[in-house]
Amino acid sequence: MTDAAPQPVFLKDYTPFGFLVDQVELNFHLQPTATRVRAKIAFRPNPAARDRRFFLHGEDLTLISAAIDGSPVTPEITPEGLSCPVPEAPFVWEAEVEIAPAENTALEGLYMSNGMYCTQCEAEGFRKITFYPDRPDVMAPFRVRVDCDLPVLLSNGNPVAQGAGWAEWNDPWPKPSYLFALVAGELVATSDRFTTSEGREVALNVWVRPADQGKADYALDSLIRSMKWDEEVYGRAYDLDVFNIVAVDDFNMGAMENKGLNVFNSRYVLASPETATDRDYENIERIIAHEYFHNWTGDRITCRDWFQLSLKEGLTVFRDSQFSADMRSAAVKRIEDVMTLRARQFREDNGPLAHPVRPESYTEINNFYTATVYEKGAEVIGMLRRLVGPEGYARALDLYFARHDGQACTIEDWLQVFEEATGRDLTQFKRWYSQAGTPRVKVTEDFKDGTYTLHLEQKTPPTPGQGEKQPQVIPLALGLLSPNGDEVLPTTVIELTEARQDAVFEGLGAKPVPSLLRGFSAPVILERDSAPEERAFLLAHDTDPFNKWEAGRSLAREVLIAMVTEDAAPAPAWLDALAAVVRHEALDPAFRALALRLPGEDELAEALAERGTVPDPLAIHAARERAKTAVARHLDPLWPGLYAQMDCPGPYSPGAADAGRRALRLAALGYMARLDGGARAQAHFAAADNMTDEIGALSVLLETGGADEALDRFARRWGHDRLVMDKWFGLQATLAAPERAVAVTRALTEHPQFTWKNPNRFRAVIGGFSANAAGFHDASGAGYDLVADWLIRLDAVNPQTAARMSTAFETWARYDAGRREKAQAALERIAAREGLSRDMGEMVDRLLAAGRIAA
Ligand SMILES: [Zn+2]
Repeated sequence: MTDAAPQPVFLKDYTPFGFLVDQVELNFHLQPTATRVRAKIAFRPNPAARDRRFFLHGEDLTLISAAIDGSPVTPEITPEGLSCPVPEAPFVWEAEVEIAPAENTALEGLYMSNGMYCTQCEAEGFRKITFYPDRPDVMAPFRVRVDCDLPVLLSNGNPVAQGAGWAEWNDPWPKPSYLFALVAGELVATSDRFTTSEGREVALNVWVRPADQGKADYALDSLIRSMKWDEEVYGRAYDLDVFNIVAVDDFNMGAMENKGLNVFNSRYVLASPETATDRDYENIERIIAHEYFHNWTGDRITCRDWFQLSLKEGLTVFRDSQFSADMRSAAVKRIEDVMTLRARQFREDNGPLAHPVRPESYTEINNFYTATVYEKGAEVIGMLRRLVGPEGYARALDLYFARHDGQACTIEDWLQVFEEATGRDLTQFKRWYSQAGTPRVKVTEDFKDGTYTLHLEQKTPPTPGQGEKQPQVIPLALGLLSPNGDEVLPTTVIELTEARQDAVFEGLGAKPVPSLLRGFSAPVILERDSAPEERAFLLAHDTDPFNKWEAGRSLAREVLIAMVTEDAAPAPAWLDALAAVVRHEALDPAFRALALRLPGEDELAEALAERGTVPDPLAIHAARERAKTAVARHLDPLWPGLYAQMDCPGPYSPGAADAGRRALRLAALGYMARLDGGARAQAHFAAADNMTDEIGALSVLLETGGADEALDRFARRWGHDRLVMDKWFGLQATLAAPERAVAVTRALTEHPQFTWKNPNRFRAVIGGFSANAAGFHDASGAGYDLVADWLIRLDAVNPQTAARMSTAFETWARYDAGRREKAQAALERIAAREGLSRDMGEMVDRLLAAGRIAA
């Protein structure tokens, strides 16, 4: 690193800004390469601040003119912003700048996507639009005028007036600059109206490009259900006369909760049965809800600084998961959430990028939009709710909204309302926000004279920058089953607070079978030796749906690990248990489909590394293939009946019931293809009348071979549809056989439709390949080089997305010396790159530190 290396920012250094903003007026003259932005901002000294230096953030701006109270000034300008002497009294700042949205490939600030203008300001994009105190604790009402010859001109808040080539918007709710948004384009709306519980009539519009007309109905329907749900469950009503959503093709993130004008990655808005899968529909419903819920948890109450990001994200993810659980199957939703948590957050917590839910420092905040801040942050709130109960939670939330509306808050403010509303001391609980790493809970037991004792020990391994950890408050939900399968103790929550603790249960007739961590009541790793027979017993008898699934999953993991390390045959007890679940018609088809999914290659590699075994990606891949074939054979008589039974006749419905049936049917198809050479899958592909079936059958063919013709047909049919083609690109990179994966991916990057500057397409191919564990970790190092080359290339145009994708290298230190050497060389090659972004520089430094930790 050069001595000009960017400096980290620390939580402990927070000070309030020296000025308050009473009003912001912005005037945009949009031109692709010469947009003029005029800002008029009313400042006054902040009585709560001691430091009165007037510094405004600003990056890549050409200052045309500046004035204070009407008199021209010449500020001092640096690459980060400007400073200027100002009066000791309220004053009006005016500035005009020029920017070039068409040249903005980083997709932060104001940029262009397929001829439309749009913005992305979180976290620090607004400083690329005009000079401003671009920090979340500066909140102000905004008034915006847009001049542009495109027909649809949108900004935050309510429309004030419009004419040919201009429009004015006024947002009365004070907001930080990261929630500013502007859109201009040739767009068409799918519209409806909603009357809030407070009697406000709200116009709802989902804006898309004309070619995508007709694909926004589900997004709009999801929005209406979200608005209703937030009124019913949280008592939160919407507060403007209009709610606009816009779909954009080039977008770094999933979506953005700008006040009254949400901007979405088009993949989370556009859907039709022919082009979107069941998973796409589910994601649209979830993300529309998430961004809408931010109106209260994020917009009305925002974060004091970016260290508090989980204040809005953890809470809003928790709220959207409650919503999805209410709309669909709560049990299936919980299982899927935990699978995601383990695959992404546990992996993060266990590697070089581990950090607390509230980080204490960062160099580039874009690098902290992580699974820890989002998903672990949501788990922390779930634990809090479990500890104080639903009524206590509701009281605390009411107090939070009443007390902090219109404020920029901290985690301390959040915990304070829980302490006041419930009388509970949360001092120890707060460690969940400050300690990184996944706690391990080790369980041993004994049984004597009718008394059953669980010995519980908790320990959190060291993480970068954090050695010793203190015990956390862990709500452990458990139940006890008698040997005949009856539940003798229904779900009870034990609070672990000590490093070692016993839980005692008396008056039992026989030694019970414990069902521990029901509903995954805390984001921890449970360590307990148990026999495969016990797991099979829980799979058959547990009343807790999560633990029922978990028993099968952990059994499968043990079987696969034995297959990898001992070359063992798949255990018959596991195959029999699986058959029993599949045959159990009272079980939700979606649940049965999940039970048939084997633990992923990365999960197995992680489990092996936990036990001190260096994982061999190829051996893991091969064992998984053998296991799948064994399941296919063992359950052979069941597949045709299941396949026929799970057919969904009638028109396509994206609801949970039909989606579950399709998932189970496709699982059956996948196993059948291992026995019939893919004949049924070819027929399924040819007959598919919806994208779930079409892409499902194509995946089966890719996994079992013989997909070439189907791939061609798919590309001919869907070549015009970028979102569908993302799937085509992504599947090939992810499912290519290990020995062909690098070549397949390289060929995809040479495809004329590999528009790599589009984040969705880049993620499909390079992200898809990174998820192909055995291919990416190819012993030759060719996978590492391929990804490194593309990260370098993308970093030069879009640092944020490039840096985020560098997490492909998160696990490199767990592999053998040969692979480590090659991964390290690839990372060092990125690090040595001239002109590397701050985003990527920070990520590569942290990733390389993994080797130093291991050494
Ligand atoms: Zn969010």
